[in-house]
Amino acid sequence: MPIDRRTLLTVSAAAAAASLLPKSATAQESAAAGFTQPPLPYAQDALAPTISAKTVGLHYGKHHASYFTALNKLAPGTPFEGVSLEEAITKAKADGNQAIFDNAGQAWNHVFYWNQFEGGPAAPEGAFLEAVTRDFGGVDEMKAAMVAEAGKVFGTGWVWLVEGDGKLEILGLQDAGNPIAEGKKPLAGIDVWEHAYYLDYENRRPDHVKAVLDSLVNWRFVGEQMSA
Ligand code: MN
Repeated sequence: MPIDRRTLLTVSAAAAAASLLPKSATAQESAAAGFTQPPLPYAQDALAPTISAKTVGLHYGKHHASYFTALNKLAPGTPFEGVSLEEAITKAKADGNQAIFDNAGQAWNHVFYWNQFEGGPAAPEGAFLEAVTRDFGGVDEMKAAMVAEAGKVFGTGWVWLVEGDGKLEILGLQDAGNPIAEGKKPLAGIDVWEHAYYLDYENRRPDHVKAVLDSLVNWRFVGEQMSA
Protein backbone atom coordinates (compact mmCIF):
# COMPACT_ATOMS: atom_id res chain seq x y z
CA MET A 1 0.00 0.00 0.00
CA PRO A 2 1.51 3.36 -0.97
CA ILE A 3 2.18 5.90 1.79
CA ASP A 4 -0.51 8.54 1.46
CA ARG A 5 0.57 12.05 0.76
CA ARG A 6 -0.82 13.45 3.99
CA THR A 7 1.31 11.06 6.11
CA LEU A 8 4.41 11.91 4.11
CA LEU A 9 3.85 15.65 4.57
CA THR A 10 3.26 15.27 8.30
CA VAL A 11 6.47 13.23 8.75
CA SER A 12 8.50 15.69 6.64
CA ALA A 13 7.14 18.68 8.53
CA ALA A 14 7.99 17.09 11.88
CA ALA A 15 11.51 16.28 10.70
CA ALA A 16 12.01 19.82 9.43
CA ALA A 17 10.70 21.32 12.66
CA ALA A 18 12.96 19.07 14.76
CA SER A 19 16.02 20.13 12.80
CA LEU A 20 15.28 23.79 13.58
CA LEU A 21 15.18 23.28 17.33
CA PRO A 22 18.35 24.54 19.06
CA LYS A 23 18.20 21.63 21.52
CA SER A 24 18.43 19.12 18.68
CA ALA A 25 21.40 20.93 17.12
CA THR A 26 23.26 20.89 20.45
CA ALA A 27 22.67 17.17 20.86
CA GLN A 28 24.00 16.54 17.35
CA GLU A 29 27.13 18.64 17.98
CA SER A 30 27.98 16.90 21.24
CA ALA A 31 27.41 13.50 19.65
CA ALA A 32 29.85 14.45 16.88
CA ALA A 33 32.47 15.53 19.44
CA GLY A 34 31.76 12.64 21.80
CA PHE A 35 33.62 9.47 22.71
CA THR A 36 32.66 6.52 20.50
CA GLN A 37 32.99 2.85 21.43
CA PRO A 38 34.82 1.07 18.58
CA PRO A 39 33.16 -2.07 17.20
CA LEU A 40 34.13 -5.43 18.67
CA PRO A 41 36.89 -6.61 16.28
CA TYR A 42 35.37 -10.11 15.90
CA ALA A 43 32.11 -12.01 16.38
CA GLN A 44 30.65 -12.25 19.87
CA ASP A 45 31.36 -16.01 20.00
CA ALA A 46 34.96 -15.74 18.73
CA LEU A 47 36.47 -16.12 22.22
CA ALA A 48 34.40 -19.19 23.19
CA PRO A 49 34.76 -21.51 24.98
CA THR A 50 37.38 -19.63 27.04
CA ILE A 51 35.07 -16.61 27.26
CA SER A 52 31.48 -17.39 26.31
CA ALA A 53 29.48 -15.39 23.78
CA LYS A 54 27.14 -14.42 26.61
CA THR A 55 29.97 -12.94 28.68
CA VAL A 56 31.39 -11.09 25.65
CA GLY A 57 27.93 -9.77 24.77
CA LEU A 58 27.30 -8.38 28.24
CA HIS A 59 30.87 -7.23 28.76
CA TYR A 60 31.15 -5.36 25.45
CA GLY A 61 27.51 -4.40 24.99
CA LYS A 62 26.62 -3.38 28.54
CA HIS A 63 29.71 -2.83 30.73
CA HIS A 64 32.10 -1.38 28.17
CA ALA A 65 29.35 0.65 26.48
CA SER A 66 28.30 2.17 29.81
CA TYR A 67 31.68 3.87 30.27
CA PHE A 68 31.24 5.70 26.95
CA THR A 69 27.69 6.69 27.89
CA ALA A 70 28.91 8.08 31.21
CA LEU A 71 31.82 9.96 29.59
CA ASN A 72 29.49 11.52 27.06
CA LYS A 73 27.37 12.83 29.94
CA LEU A 74 30.35 14.08 31.96
CA ALA A 75 32.58 15.64 29.30
CA PRO A 76 30.43 18.11 27.30
CA GLY A 77 31.10 21.71 28.31
CA THR A 78 34.27 20.75 30.23
CA PRO A 79 37.95 20.71 29.16
CA PHE A 80 37.45 16.97 28.53
CA GLU A 81 35.18 17.60 25.56
CA GLY A 82 36.86 16.61 22.29
CA VAL A 83 40.06 15.14 23.78
CA SER A 84 41.31 11.60 23.13
CA LEU A 85 40.75 8.88 25.74
CA GLU A 86 44.50 8.88 26.50
CA GLU A 87 44.45 12.66 27.10
CA ALA A 88 41.34 12.32 29.25
CA ILE A 89 43.09 9.69 31.43
CA THR A 90 46.26 11.70 32.02
CA LYS A 91 44.44 15.02 32.48
CA ALA A 92 41.86 13.50 34.84
CA LYS A 93 44.65 12.00 36.92
CA ALA A 94 46.48 15.35 37.05
CA ASP A 95 43.26 17.24 37.91
CA GLY A 96 42.03 14.67 40.42
CA ASN A 97 38.80 14.17 38.42
CA GLN A 98 37.89 10.67 39.59
CA ALA A 99 34.67 10.30 37.57
CA ILE A 100 36.39 11.11 34.27
CA PHE A 101 39.44 9.02 35.24
CA ASP A 102 37.31 5.98 36.00
CA ASN A 103 35.17 6.15 32.86
CA ALA A 104 37.92 7.17 30.42
CA GLY A 105 40.23 4.56 31.96
CA GLN A 106 37.64 1.80 31.63
CA ALA A 107 36.68 2.92 28.11
CA TRP A 108 40.34 2.76 27.02
CA ASN A 109 41.22 -0.39 28.99
CA HIS A 110 38.48 -2.40 27.32
CA VAL A 111 39.34 -1.22 23.78
CA PHE A 112 42.86 -2.49 24.44
CA TYR A 113 41.50 -5.68 26.05
CA TRP A 114 39.37 -6.62 23.01
CA ASN A 115 42.12 -5.74 20.53
CA GLN A 116 44.76 -7.98 22.14
CA PHE A 117 42.69 -11.08 21.28
CA GLU A 118 42.23 -10.27 17.59
CA GLY A 119 44.05 -12.80 15.41
CA GLY A 120 45.06 -14.81 18.49
CA PRO A 121 46.30 -16.98 19.93
CA ALA A 122 49.82 -16.44 18.61
CA ALA A 123 53.06 -17.23 20.42
CA PRO A 124 55.56 -14.56 21.56
CA GLU A 125 58.41 -14.07 19.09
CA GLY A 126 61.44 -11.94 18.24
CA ALA A 127 62.54 -9.05 20.45
CA PHE A 128 59.48 -9.49 22.68
CA LEU A 129 60.28 -13.14 23.36
CA GLU A 130 63.87 -12.12 24.18
CA ALA A 131 62.62 -9.46 26.61
CA VAL A 132 60.24 -11.95 28.28
CA THR A 133 63.08 -14.45 28.69
CA ARG A 134 65.41 -11.74 30.02
CA ASP A 135 62.93 -10.32 32.57
CA PHE A 136 60.92 -13.38 33.65
CA GLY A 137 63.01 -16.40 32.66
CA GLY A 138 60.49 -17.55 30.04
CA VAL A 139 56.92 -17.33 28.72
CA ASP A 140 55.48 -19.79 31.27
CA GLU A 141 57.11 -17.86 34.12
CA MET A 142 55.70 -14.57 32.80
CA LYS A 143 52.19 -16.05 32.57
CA ALA A 144 52.49 -17.55 36.07
CA ALA A 145 53.51 -14.14 37.42
CA MET A 146 50.45 -12.56 35.78
CA VAL A 147 48.15 -15.19 37.27
CA ALA A 148 49.73 -14.66 40.70
CA GLU A 149 49.30 -10.88 40.41
CA ALA A 150 45.64 -11.37 39.39
CA GLY A 151 45.11 -13.14 42.71
CA LYS A 152 46.49 -10.13 44.58
CA VAL A 153 44.16 -7.51 43.07
CA PHE A 154 41.56 -7.05 45.79
CA GLY A 155 38.06 -6.59 44.38
CA THR A 156 37.94 -5.02 40.93
CA GLY A 157 40.91 -4.22 38.72
CA TRP A 158 43.35 -5.22 36.02
CA VAL A 159 46.61 -7.10 35.60
CA TRP A 160 48.90 -5.45 33.08
CA LEU A 161 52.07 -6.52 31.35
CA VAL A 162 53.90 -3.24 30.82
CA GLU A 163 57.17 -1.83 29.59
CA GLY A 164 58.77 0.67 31.90
CA ASP A 165 62.35 1.82 32.47
CA GLY A 166 63.67 -0.46 29.74
CA LYS A 167 62.21 -3.67 31.13
CA LEU A 168 58.99 -5.63 31.25
CA GLU A 169 56.98 -5.65 34.47
CA ILE A 170 53.62 -6.84 35.77
CA LEU A 171 51.32 -4.34 37.41
CA GLY A 172 48.15 -5.13 39.33
CA LEU A 173 45.96 -2.02 39.39
CA GLN A 174 42.68 -1.36 41.17
CA ASP A 175 39.41 -0.45 39.45
CA ALA A 176 40.06 1.58 36.26
CA GLY A 177 43.83 1.57 36.87
CA ASN A 178 45.79 2.16 33.72
CA PRO A 179 49.49 1.92 32.81
CA ILE A 180 49.35 5.20 30.85
CA ALA A 181 48.47 7.01 34.08
CA GLU A 182 51.47 5.30 35.74
CA GLY A 183 53.87 6.42 33.01
CA LYS A 184 54.26 2.86 31.65
CA LYS A 185 53.58 1.39 28.23
CA PRO A 186 50.75 -1.17 28.23
CA LEU A 187 51.53 -4.42 26.37
CA ALA A 188 48.75 -6.74 27.60
CA GLY A 189 45.89 -6.21 30.04
CA ILE A 190 43.62 -8.76 31.70
CA ASP A 191 40.35 -7.59 33.23
CA VAL A 192 39.83 -9.18 36.64
CA TRP A 193 36.50 -7.52 37.46
CA GLU A 194 34.02 -10.30 38.20
CA HIS A 195 31.94 -9.32 35.15
CA ALA A 196 34.83 -10.55 32.98
CA TYR A 197 34.64 -14.14 34.20
CA TYR A 198 31.90 -14.88 36.72
CA LEU A 199 29.36 -16.43 34.32
CA ASP A 200 31.99 -18.80 32.92
CA TYR A 201 34.34 -19.45 35.86
CA GLU A 202 32.31 -18.36 38.91
CA ASN A 203 34.86 -17.48 41.61
CA ARG A 204 37.83 -19.15 39.88
CA ARG A 205 39.67 -16.01 38.79
CA PRO A 206 43.12 -17.64 38.45
CA ASP A 207 41.73 -20.39 36.16
CA HIS A 208 40.13 -17.73 33.97
CA VAL A 209 43.30 -15.63 33.74
CA LYS A 210 45.45 -18.67 32.95
CA ALA A 211 43.02 -19.80 30.22
CA VAL A 212 42.94 -16.33 28.66
CA LEU A 213 46.74 -16.07 28.64
CA ASP A 214 47.14 -19.58 27.22
CA SER A 215 44.41 -19.66 24.62
CA LEU A 216 43.24 -16.17 23.67
CA VAL A 217 45.99 -13.56 23.81
CA ASN A 218 47.67 -12.72 20.52
CA TRP A 219 51.21 -12.43 21.88
CA ARG A 220 52.41 -11.14 18.51
CA PHE A 221 50.11 -8.11 19.01
CA VAL A 222 51.49 -7.75 22.55
CA GLY A 223 55.07 -7.75 21.22
CA GLU A 224 54.16 -5.11 18.65
CA GLN A 225 53.16 -2.72 21.47
CA MET A 226 56.76 -2.73 22.73
CA SER A 227 58.82 0.32 21.80
CA ALA A 228 61.40 -0.34 19.08
MN1 MN B 1 35.42 -5.18 32.19
